[in-house]
Amino acid sequence: MNHKGQLFLLLIQSVCITWLVILEFNDYAFGMFEMPRWALLAALCVTTGLLIFIRFRVRTRLKQMTVELRRAMSGNLKTRLFAKDDNIWNEVIFSINELLEQLENVQIETIQSEAARKSLLSSISHDIRTPLTSIIGYVTALKDQVAISEQEQREYLEIVSRKSDELKVLIDEIFTMAKLDADEMPQVAESLDFTEMAREALIAFLPELNIYGIELKVQIPDEKCLILADRLSVMRIIGNMIKNAMYYGREGKVLGVELAEVSDEYQLLIWDQGPGISKAELDHVFERMYRTDPSRNVSSGGSGGGSGLGLAIAKALVEKNSGRIWAESIPWHRTVFGIAFKKQLRIK
Ligand code: ATP
Ligand code: MG
Repeated sequence: MNHKGQLFLLLIQSVCITWLVILEFNDYAFGMFEMPRWALLAALCVTTGLLIFIRFRVRTRLKQMTVELRRAMSGNLKTRLFAKDDNIWNEVIFSINELLEQLENVQIETIQSEAARKSLLSSISHDIRTPLTSIIGYVTALKDQVAISEQEQREYLEIVSRKSDELKVLIDEIFTMAKLDADEMPQVAESLDFTEMAREALIAFLPELNIYGIELKVQIPDEKCLILADRLSVMRIIGNMIKNAMYYGREGKVLGVELAEVSDEYQLLIWDQGPGISKAELDHVFERMYRTDPSRNVSSGGSGGGSGLGLAIAKALVEKNSGRIWAESIPWHRTVFGIAFKKQLRIK
């Protein structure tokens, strides 16, 4: 029985009681009230009986709900309570089910992030252990004088130095990612000329681009394109995108840099014509420690292959500066990494 029905029963019960009290106090005074006394008693009994029955059902339902909720609390968050016709019950049950669904989602997210954390930790320890093991090997060989010639000693030292540099870069990136996670990398938004930033970042790579014989195709407007963002972060993001295009797209022999105004934002595209990234892998390139199949990036040959943190850091930094980052790829034709920031002003 729904809430209105129960109220109706309570009303009948109150009327019967009032009527019976009137009859009691005006006993025999009003003969006309004499007749319905038994009928009133019967109605009172029926309504009271019904109310007791309803209370019994409510208790049973509450017990059942307690059992179901205990089951949910013990870990089975897939449990859902069944709704009855009564609106008030349904509202409570829907709210509980909503809460259970939210708890289930939180549980799923916790399991997933725990799995991701474990796999990240194992990737990190693998990436640290590999260069460290080879450093230890070469240093031991040098210490034990296993390397005979001076030439070999120099080569060993060269390898140790290179591996130590790689290790430092990796540890720096892990540190940056951890600081970004903990929100300990304050972003100072200032008015920046996007064209100047793009040119500045590009200049730093010119010697390497020359060495690899990569042709530059630059389309950057002469006028200022002002954005509001953190200088160091923007430099780091652009630098990472250029470095990637240079290493992974090296075989395409072309590196493109385009800056354009698109509706209310400025978009910077860094593109190459290398082996690119498959559709399935494109969804993951911004994930931490994700590296595409190394056999596809023949050109990187291991020397350019990094930790797989660069784009994850770039994405976190872009988002902290209210920008967007994306990737598109048509292998051997055009692989584009783009960033966009809301435009601030345009001064001629
Ligand atoms: P890091 O940048 O931390 O030194 P990384 O370059 O491996 O290491 P990301 O910059 O995050 O890491 O790139 C992730 C992966 O995406 C790379 O390992 C590479 O496989 C792929 N990738 C990135 N840019 C390109 C590109 N232009 N062409 C082909 N593959 C790319
Ligand atoms: Mg990179």
